[in-house]
Amino acid sequence: ARKGKTPEEVVKRYLQKVRSPPEEDCTICMEALPGPSGYKGPGVGGIQRAESVGRLAQCGHQYHLQCLVAMYNNGNKDGSLQCPTCKTIYGVKTGNQPPGKMEYHVIPHSLPGHPDCKTIRIIYNIPPGIQGPEHPNSGKPFTARGFPRHCYLPDSEKGRKVLRLLLVAWDRRLIFSVGTSSTTGESDTVIWNEVHHKTEFGSNLTGHGYPDPGHLDNVLEELKAQGITEEECLP
Ligand code: NAD
Ligand code: ZN
Ligand code: ZN
Repeated sequence: ARKGKTPEEVVKRYLQKVRSPPEEDCTICMEALPGPSGYKGPGVGGIQRAESVGRLAQCGHQYHLQCLVAMYNNGNKDGSLQCPTCKTIYGVKTGNQPPGKMEYHVIPHSLPGHPDCKTIRIIYNIPPGIQGPEHPNSGKPFTARGFPRHCYLPDSEKGRKVLRLLLVAWDRRLIFSVGTSSTTGESDTVIWNEVHHKTEFGSNLTGHGYPDPGHLDNVLEELKAQGITEEECLP
């Protein structure tokens, strides 16, 4: 969704003008900031002067405007921008997770390492389909293996917090993506995005199970990298 704005307008919303750029390289194109953008790809030619430089308002990192517009055009164009240096997110980041269902319920069993509480089971279900313009191969089918996928969290205060944030991540289409599975090598298939889930219940034979004392904190960090924090979601 372009929200009625051109890519250049979206990018400029998060930028301050830089009149005399420092003698440093733009880390997107590796050319000097005071010179023209080295980006030669399609889609940005003629939109703006190749010499324009902008400073991202919150983190202060500077890039050629044309390089930021090119980066934005390579993404899913959801109105948000992520600084490629420090990962600060401008706007609300969304992903390209295909349509499906997320459900959860509490089961009366404890996970290894969490003997004092019950367990939240999340069930994700995504059917195969046809890729959209936000996917790697628009118009081509994608497969969906191993669904429904069952995932587990301790039903503790921190586990419930992770669940709340995962529900936000689901709405923003950030739990799964379409691409090449690093496990099976299959392309054009539904894969986990950058937020780790535990799919094994009573043991940890796969590395995707319990006990794993750092798991909830790791997931909270991974959610934060996607722009999802409790402060932001539940003010
Ligand atoms: P992937 O292999 O591209 O890996 C993406 C991320 O998911 C990586 O961080 C990886 O560490 C993690 N990951 C890999 N296998 C996982 C697992 N079993 N549980 C939790 N996290 C896992 O991702 P993918 O292709 O989506 O998943 C790998 C394979 O696991 C797929 O072939 C899928 O069919 C299978 N799987 C099956 C079930 C099931 O219930 N049968 C559940 C989950 C995954
Ligand atoms: Zn540049
Ligand atoms: Zn930055």
